[in-house]
Amino acid sequence: MVLNIIDLLKKEIPLEEESLIIPENTKTGLVLVDIINGFCTVGAGNLAPREPNSQISQMIEESERLARVFCEQKWPVLAFLDSHQPDKLEHPYPSHCIAGTEESNLVPALRWLEEEPNVTIRRKDCYDGYIGSIQEDGSNAFADWVKTNNIELLLVAGICTDICVLDFICSTLSARNRGFLAPLKDVVVYSGGCATFDFPVSVAKETKAGLAHPQEMMHHVGLYMAKGRGAKIASEVSFGELEKP
Ligand SMILES: [Zn+2]
Repeated sequence: MVLNIIDLLKKEIPLEEESLIIPENTKTGLVLVDIINGFCTVGAGNLAPREPNSQISQMIEESERLARVFCEQKWPVLAFLDSHQPDKLEHPYPSHCIAGTEESNLVPALRWLEEEPNVTIRRKDCYDGYIGSIQEDGSNAFADWVKTNNIELLLVAGICTDICVLDFICSTLSARNRGFLAPLKDVVVYSGGCATFDFPVSVAKETKAGLAHPQEMMHHVGLYMAKGRGAKIASEVSFGELEKP
């Protein structure tokens, strides 16, 4: 039997996923990580896809589906938007998502979130949304959002599975374990609502620009590592009894 490299990887580090049904009586918050033009819209910048990408398109569709339900129910949503000052590069990446440009704004399919009263927009200038939430006075805007909304279950979607999503998950679970995020209990990553970028080894070698980053493989590894930190990974997300909007 010939296994391709993805099958081999999935055999060596298998990922068990679950179906999440969001319970009606559990206070649930949705975090959307960096679903912005600079990472998702074809041709929008140095780190944007060069051509249409099905994993990224699906991530946007699924994030929008979840966001619609959360907004209908007036449940809390927090959207992180990668936004950098032009004179402050984010090593090792080229200039991207400069504050005030379309690159650092939500993709067209999610732009309506800006008008929703239950949505908090948090701009950040680092990979990790938890670290990016630290404010000048030392408080943490994400931790405050969890506490103010009494969030017990956190659902996470966005891009990139193995970079900004993973870093945020790792910090959030460390903080939860230290007791900083009560009443938060569970953190669930929705795999179909996450995506990462594609930079195959052949292209990386040819252009000598950065580390190889094969999409399917890194997406899987990102989810696997999030699970290793204690996140739950859901392949399906549905809702229990919902109030009629
Ligand atoms: Zn960035």
